[in-house]
Amino acid sequence: MKIEECRADFPITRDLIYLDSAATSLTPKPVVQAMVEYDLRYRANVGRGVHRLTAVATHRYRDARDAVRSFVGGEGGTLAVTRNTTEAIGMVAAGLAWQKGDRVVTTLLEHHSNLLPWLRLREQGVEVEVVRPDADGRLDPADLEAAIRDDTRLVAVTHASNVLGTVLPVREIAGTCHDRGARLLVDAAQSVPHLPVDAAGLGCDYLCFSGHKMLGPTGTGGLWMREPDLEPLFVGGGSIESATADGYTLAPGEERYEAGTPPIAGAIGLGRAVAYLREIGMDAIRHHEKRLCARLIDGLAALDGVAVVGADAEGERIGVVSFTVEGMHPHEVAQVLDEAAAVLVRSGHHCCQPLMEHLGLPDGTVRASTYIYTTTEEIDMLIATVEELSRRVA
Ligand code: PMP
Repeated sequence: MKIEECRADFPITRDLIYLDSAATSLTPKPVVQAMVEYDLRYRANVGRGVHRLTAVATHRYRDARDAVRSFVGGEGGTLAVTRNTTEAIGMVAAGLAWQKGDRVVTTLLEHHSNLLPWLRLREQGVEVEVVRPDADGRLDPADLEAAIRDDTRLVAVTHASNVLGTVLPVREIAGTCHDRGARLLVDAAQSVPHLPVDAAGLGCDYLCFSGHKMLGPTGTGGLWMREPDLEPLFVGGGSIESATADGYTLAPGEERYEAGTPPIAGAIGLGRAVAYLREIGMDAIRHHEKRLCARLIDGLAALDGVAVVGADAEGERIGVVSFTVEGMHPHEVAQVLDEAAAVLVRSGHHCCQPLMEHLGLPDGTVRASTYIYTTTEEIDMLIATVEELSRRVA
């Protein structure tokens, strides 16, 4: 399928200009249909049952999980279905046996979901170093490299910033981690939907992502593990090989991390979402978003009283652009964009409050983010409306 042909699958785009895909993407009709089909035609629990519906549901659920694992380049590793990125990161934080004096390295670019779990470990005597970017949000890879010492147990970094759109050199970071014996967690919430991601090739140990940001249903996500070496957060139904009154043996693969009934319809929907993304092709998606992003940055940066945050960062970026309008609170800008032009953007601190403080933007920013269904005309409408706004304030 050509990328220009996909819009008909997203009815919301008929009436609204949706530029908030970094928070949650829209979902196309085939994904919704796959979930409805499960609910109406073969709904049953998955696992060990033998009746015909459970056999179909189990087969479709496992196929979907395999499709997601392969989509993130995770063959050879283990993929557990989670509710979202936050849960996936939490499973790593809870699943490693921490000892006093262990060291975790992370950055100030992180979403709260990849910062708070590590800060909480300080209560257990874990040392947490938060590497800071410069005043414009640029992270010097040398600073990160210097922080990763031989006694570092885990490095947890984002692949792409949900505020600045910048992409971190995770492959190089993985090299440093492996030289120094540290494990690497990559928060891929913003990269898996937008870039071709190869978990095994990147050299990370854990890759965490959200299904709802990549055309899939809410309540779905994934934790990919190079080795299934984490203690599961929950144990119970579905997660065991065998159990007696005295103990249990956990299942060897992904099941050990999926205690209880998983989001069956959700996972099947997510499986359909990755098939949809494959039909368009991640390279085509990348190309489309690069073009829109350049137009967005150029258009906004040319306006008086509008500042694009972190626009001059070199290297790769995703279609996420943060900006401020002089004299207006970001929430006010977002509200006017909605009322005046049905342009939906996000505003505030984007769950990155420490980064916002560091950038001197305690009120946060306005953030526009693109995806496969975004058009040039929509970007131009955003720019024209912001221009009008900024003239009114000046
Ligand atoms: N990390 C990043 C970089 C994100 O952008 C987000 C979502 N905004 C998250 C983590 C958390 O994702 P979720 O809410 O799906 O758990």
